[in-house]
Amino acid sequence: MVEAPPHLSPSSASAFSSCPRRWRFKYIDKLPDPSSQAALVGTFAHQVLELLCQLEATERTPDQAKALARVAWAEFEIDEDYAALELDVEQARAFRWQAWLAIAGLWDIEDPAGVDVVSTEQKIKVELESVPFVGVVDRVDRIGGDLVVSDYKSGTLPGFRWRQDKIQQVMLYAAALQASTGERPGRARLLYLGQRVLDVRVTQARIDNATTMLSETWVSIGSACSTEEFPPAPGVLCGWCPFVTQCPEGQGELMARMEAGSLPAHAPSAALVA
Ligand code: SF4
Repeated sequence: MVEAPPHLSPSSASAFSSCPRRWRFKYIDKLPDPSSQAALVGTFAHQVLELLCQLEATERTPDQAKALARVAWAEFEIDEDYAALELDVEQARAFRWQAWLAIAGLWDIEDPAGVDVVSTEQKIKVELESVPFVGVVDRVDRIGGDLVVSDYKSGTLPGFRWRQDKIQQVMLYAAALQASTGERPGRARLLYLGQRVLDVRVTQARIDNATTMLSETWVSIGSACSTEEFPPAPGVLCGWCPFVTQCPEGQGELMARMEAGSLPAHAPSAALVA
């Protein structure tokens, strides 16, 4: 028997649903899981947008964002996760440019000067259907009288199948906000920076569906921790799994996909088994 974590976040729940073994490597064994460059670009963009949206509405301009990015960068570039990328001068410049494109991408999908921001990076700890839930909501706005939950995304807008998982996660933030404030948000939004907004109406039925799935995942985690059985779920996501070298089934999946030419060329874990 292994001890289950004290809380469940949307990302942890999603990770367990995708592959219980990968979840065990990360959340129980706590194996090193270095952030990818794409993830760190997103982290930096999040930080700058958080600072931007804490300003008065009229001050939320691209020039202010640039100034905030310069200040935030001084601290970010000495962070050990960023240092671990070991980028040379040109690569570091490309990193900053990617991050700036993500930040500036906010203006492609909305004018932040017109947003009534209620909170940024709000940490919420509540019980949802007896599950000890914890999550950080990127931004809560007030639009037309409704509370609106917004989650920034710096990656590419996923295909329909993968979108449902992202929508489920933001619906959990809406459920947590309702549980902590007593007010049900009217909308939940995924802000794909530089691309488009996925805007979903929040209904009690959608909240119930999301929290029921969360509860089922929590029960499955408890059961897996009791039996210490965390089966692998090989699939295309093995190409993005940092633990593939410790997973024979995942290695087999990747080799088969490479031979069949069905592994995306940019899958980072391919190099680990080639
Ligand atoms: S390599 Fe694939 S099957 Fe193995 S732990 Fe990672 S995601 Fe799961």
